[in-house]
Amino acid sequence: GGRIGILGGGQLGRMLASAAARLGYSTHIYEPGACPAADVAADWTQASYEDLSALHGFAEGVDLITFEFENIPSSALDALVSACPVRPGRRALSTSQDRLVEKEFLSTLGLATAPYRNVESLADLNAAIDQIGTPAILKTRRFGYDGKGQVRIADRAEAEVAFAQMAGAPAILEGFVNFSHEVSVIVARNASGQVSCFDPAENLHRDGILRTSTVPARLSNSQQQDAILLAGRIATALDYIGVMGVELFVTPGALVVNEIAPRVHNSGHWTQNGCTIDQFEQHIRAITGLPLGDGRRHADVVMENLIGDDMDRLPALLEEPAAALHLYGKAEVRAGRKMGHVNRVTPLSPRS
Ligand code: ATP
Ligand code: MG
Ligand code: MG
Repeated sequence: GGRIGILGGGQLGRMLASAAARLGYSTHIYEPGACPAADVAADWTQASYEDLSALHGFAEGVDLITFEFENIPSSALDALVSACPVRPGRRALSTSQDRLVEKEFLSTLGLATAPYRNVESLADLNAAIDQIGTPAILKTRRFGYDGKGQVRIADRAEAEVAFAQMAGAPAILEGFVNFSHEVSVIVARNASGQVSCFDPAENLHRDGILRTSTVPARLSNSQQQDAILLAGRIATALDYIGVMGVELFVTPGALVVNEIAPRVHNSGHWTQNGCTIDQFEQHIRAITGLPLGDGRRHADVVMENLIGDDMDRLPALLEEPAAALHLYGKAEVRAGRKMGHVNRVTPLSPRS
C-alpha cells in the first residue's frame, strides 16, 4: 500500500488512479478545474498551482507524486519536491515543457528532428524562413497541446500574420517534415533502470487532435527496432522513471522525433485491451519501484478517440461486441473535447 498524489484530474489522472487502486495504492488528486478523476480517487483537492500552501499540504499527505500533464509551473514543482518525491523528475519536465530545449536535447543524443530555429522577433522569423524554407510551422515553445499554439506558414508572405498570432509568446519555427505516417512508442523505465517498450502505434490526427492509434503500425522490422531503441535511449538519458510517449514521423530516410510527453499518452490507450499490463499500470509500477509488467501485445487493436458529438454514436458502439468502451465521466459534451475512447480488438495478425 501507500498513497500516490496525482497532479491533474482529467482522463489520464482518472485511469492512473484506477490502475493504482488495483495495485493497492490510494490516490489523492490535485486539480484546479473540473475533475473526472474525482470519482475514482480516494481524495481530491481543488486548488490552483499558484496556491503554494495547498500544494505543500497535498505533498505532505502523500508518499509519492506523479502527474498527467507536463505544464506544471516550476514554482509549484519547487513547493512539491521540498516535501515529497516527484516521478518522473525535474529533468524530464524541464526538457519536455519547452520545444526548444526538447529539440536541443534530442539533437545532442544524435536523433533526427525537424529543422528548427528559435524565434523571438519578426526578424528572427524571417531569418529562420530564409534558412529552413517553407512550408514550415511556427509553434509556441510552451503550453501547446492538440495542435494549439501552432500556425502553418505556406510562404514567406505569411510570416508577419503568423508572428502576430504568437502574441509575443516565445516560439520556434519548424521545417515541415514530409512524413508518410506518424507512430509513437510508449516506453517505461523504473528506478533500477529496467526499460520496457510497448509496440509502436500508428497515429492518425485530424484538426491537430489524435483520432486513431493502430497496432501493429506500418513499420519494417528494422524501423520497429529503431523506434524502440531510440525511445529507450531517450528515457535512459533523462534518467526517467515512469511511462513516456515518444512521437515519431516516419520518413524514407529516418525516424524523426516530433516530441516527447513525460506521462502516459493518448496513443497508448490501446494497451488497455491489447496487453496484459497496460500503460497506466506500468506507470504505477515504475514510479513505485515495482518490477515492470509484461507489456507484450496479445491482439491487434484500433483505438478510436470519442471527441465531442462522437458520443452520439454510443448506442451503436455498444452494439459492437468487440469494441471495448472507456468513457471518462465528463459531465458536459463540448466540440473538440475528448469524452472517451473505444478499443476495437481483433486476433493478433502475423507480422511479416
Ligand atoms: P499533442 O496533443 O500531441 O501534444 P501538440 O500540440 O504538442 O500535440 P505537435 O505534436 O507538435 O502538437 O503537432 C501536432 C501534429 O501536427 C503532429 O502530430 C503532426 O501531424 C503535425 N506536425 C507537427 N509538427 C510538424 C512538422 N514539423 N512537420 C509536419 N507535421 C507536423
Ligand atoms: Mg505535445
Ligand atoms: Mg504531439
